[in-house]
Amino acid sequence: MFIPYGKQEITEADIESVVSVLKSDFLTQGPKIEEFEASVSGYCGAEYGIACSSATAALHLACLSLGLGVGDRLWTSPITFVASANCALYCGARVEFVDIDPQTYNMSVDALEEKLILAEKEGVLPKVVIPVHFAGQSCDMKKIHELSLKYGFRIIEDASHAVGGSYLKSKVGSCEFSDITIFSFHPVKIITTAEGGCAVSNSSELYSKMSLLRSHGITRDSDLMIGNEAQGGWYYEQIELGFNYRMTELQAALGCSQIKRLDEFVVRRHELKAKYDSALKELPLILPYQSSDRVSSLHLYPIVLDKSARISRSDAFNEMRLAEIGVNVHYIPVHLQPFYMANYGFKRGDFPEAERYYDRCISIPLYYGLREEMQTEVINVCQRLFK
Ligand SMILES: *Cc1c(COP(=O)(O)O)cnc(C)c1O
Repeated sequence: MFIPYGKQEITEADIESVVSVLKSDFLTQGPKIEEFEASVSGYCGAEYGIACSSATAALHLACLSLGLGVGDRLWTSPITFVASANCALYCGARVEFVDIDPQTYNMSVDALEEKLILAEKEGVLPKVVIPVHFAGQSCDMKKIHELSLKYGFRIIEDASHAVGGSYLKSKVGSCEFSDITIFSFHPVKIITTAEGGCAVSNSSELYSKMSLLRSHGITRDSDLMIGNEAQGGWYYEQIELGFNYRMTELQAALGCSQIKRLDEFVVRRHELKAKYDSALKELPLILPYQSSDRVSSLHLYPIVLDKSARISRSDAFNEMRLAEIGVNVHYIPVHLQPFYMANYGFKRGDFPEAERYYDRCISIPLYYGLREEMQTEVINVCQRLFK
């Protein structure tokens, strides 16, 4: 039986929630969207939520709402999914990367500060920085926020992995130290809407901007209209070039049902992590580090082969796949993607910590429905390969 690295957990209640929408008057642009947005923003303690067709769409809207455009720079981590960087390119901005911290695999605050000092001298400071909460553990947001005040950049948290996590005393998404936080609800993430994402923020201005751009740049609000005065009940105006980045009612209904179990999902992931931690600790592996002032939602459990391991990463990966364990590698550093190398001149060696991590990491299965005997199987295969 094949054991994937991540998988959704769908209950009868989830199915009923979606079916009830199918039988209702609205398949899109109805009441479920607002309910889901309120659930997400309420859960993390932010003022506003904007549900979108994906986290990628939400990242794009977030960048646009912060005014990112041609001639601007956006910095993010190389150890992320490509969407955290692509959003800058959609806006015509340039992407730069900040190397990772070798312990947390998140963007290194020291590397960020060094790069900011240099960039200030050269007049190439970023307009937006996107810290990515890798594997579900928050970045050091307080320090990144302090740097943002000193160097004048805005912050979008890519919390695609981290819904349900917390940092200091707040839930990830409270936006205490950022302008906007983005969540993904792709099926491998913590909760799912099939495809889907959400941006949360405490700024009414950013909220309005993202709402407008999510739906074609069209408004029915006479206060926002800039052309002719309203000519009747049918009247709307397109005042900017927007997109159709809306989430459907079906997806929102699934999300409303899923979010009720978010805390339970995270608790279960922690139980599974604890078992891996104790079962694998004698092996020549570096296990995920947990910072004491934050709670990870544990999207991933990446193991890193120690230098003393007698098997290579690729052999270990292949052996695990042969044993029907759906391991994966998170992530190929974005700067090493052919598109980024060919078009932007990035090369091997640019971000050594990210590359060192990439060369030795494997994500092993971690999800709510991973049953005890399945986890034991994963552990046995690790023992066989690494002992
Ligand atoms: C999954 C993911 C995204 C993109 O999410 P979608 O909802 O699939 O668009 C962006 N950033 C990170 C870090 C992700 O893991």
